[in-house]
Amino acid sequence: MHLNAYFRHFSTQNIKNINKHVMLDLIQFTPGGISRAEMARRLGLTRSAITTIVNDLMERGAIRESAKKTGTSGRPRTLLEITPEAGYVAGVDMGATHLRIIISNFGAQVVAEKEVGFDITLPPEVCLEKTNHLLQELLKEVGLTLSQLSSIGVGVLGPVSAIEGMVIAPPIMPGWDKFPIRTTLETLWEVPISINNDAELGALGEWAYGAGRNRKDLAYIKVGHGIGAGFLINGQIYRGSTGSAGEIGHLTIDEKGPICTCGNRGCLEALSGGGAIALQAKKAIKEKQNTQLREISTKNISAKDVAFAAQRGDLLAQEIMEEAGEHLGVALAGLINIFNPDMIIVGGGVAQMGDILLEPIRKTVKERSLLSATTNVRITTALLGRRSSSMGAVAQALSIAIHMIAEK
Ligand SMILES: [Zn+2]
Repeated sequence: MHLNAYFRHFSTQNIKNINKHVMLDLIQFTPGGISRAEMARRLGLTRSAITTIVNDLMERGAIRESAKKTGTSGRPRTLLEITPEAGYVAGVDMGATHLRIIISNFGAQVVAEKEVGFDITLPPEVCLEKTNHLLQELLKEVGLTLSQLSSIGVGVLGPVSAIEGMVIAPPIMPGWDKFPIRTTLETLWEVPISINNDAELGALGEWAYGAGRNRKDLAYIKVGHGIGAGFLINGQIYRGSTGSAGEIGHLTIDEKGPICTCGNRGCLEALSGGGAIALQAKKAIKEKQNTQLREISTKNISAKDVAFAAQRGDLLAQEIMEEAGEHLGVALAGLINIFNPDMIIVGGGVAQMGDILLEPIRKTVKERSLLSATTNVRITTALLGRRSSSMGAVAQALSIAIHMIAEK
């Protein structure tokens, strides 16, 4: 994950350098900071080796001693943290129907943030121009310029080649296939850019700052307009051999089900994605079924409307949401049997509705997965809500930025 990003920038490393970067990762991703003694213990290094590297990183301004302390009252230990004022980064989350950008300082504290409507099916040039416009607007709002950003992380739908910085054959956005996203943005913004799949960044964001802190093996399921998953195995993003891991949205749930955007039938996304939920509501209205949703113009009905109606007691909406949850549960039960994670985080726009989706998921998972695999797993909603992916993009950008200071 973060190490991949920095190896892309720095190819020759000696051991001391590697220790330095591993220490930076530990400091960045230990909630509240970490003491010198704890680092020595976790890395198996001597106190003097730690001191030498810590002093070097402090001189460069990358880290500082936190005001907080840890340990017994007799021997409190000073904690080390990334210096928040050392600089700024941005995290971009390009969804199917939303675009969110966060600007944060090096301490991962958000200084500016905005989400606007978006249409990823438009040509990449149009989408990237809109992204550039929103970033410039946010920078202006907080009195910063592009040159003050050290790095920008970008999340995008579909299978992503992080090395090449592009998406490969994404089902709902054919115009983006192999479009050089990273090169285009690096030319435009003149800062190091990393491109990752949005659900992978959701997993990273929740692991670094959200519900998945201190977990080693977790899956993040993004239920938005479409459905994707990101896996973190032993604290590292698992991408698969071609960057296509986690395309759970195209797992066949019902071989005879509705046609999916990928061309197959009965994919999870075609049954439980936000687009599918809205479609089912529209169909029910056309069939003149009894529902509050008839008050909304059929053209505008979204998954959010269906979820709200379900919360207000609308039986048809409840049925649609419950079925969507059950199909998700079937997919997750399979995932749990294969992957045996200790946490599953359900995020994305549709998942913001909480229990209405989570309850049928939990019930179905319990019914369908092996006891040995489920005893340990917690299924929860994303703590960062709609921000999981954009905060993951911030984490990715911070890793690159902080490691760059250490190399200067
Ligand atoms: Zn599909």
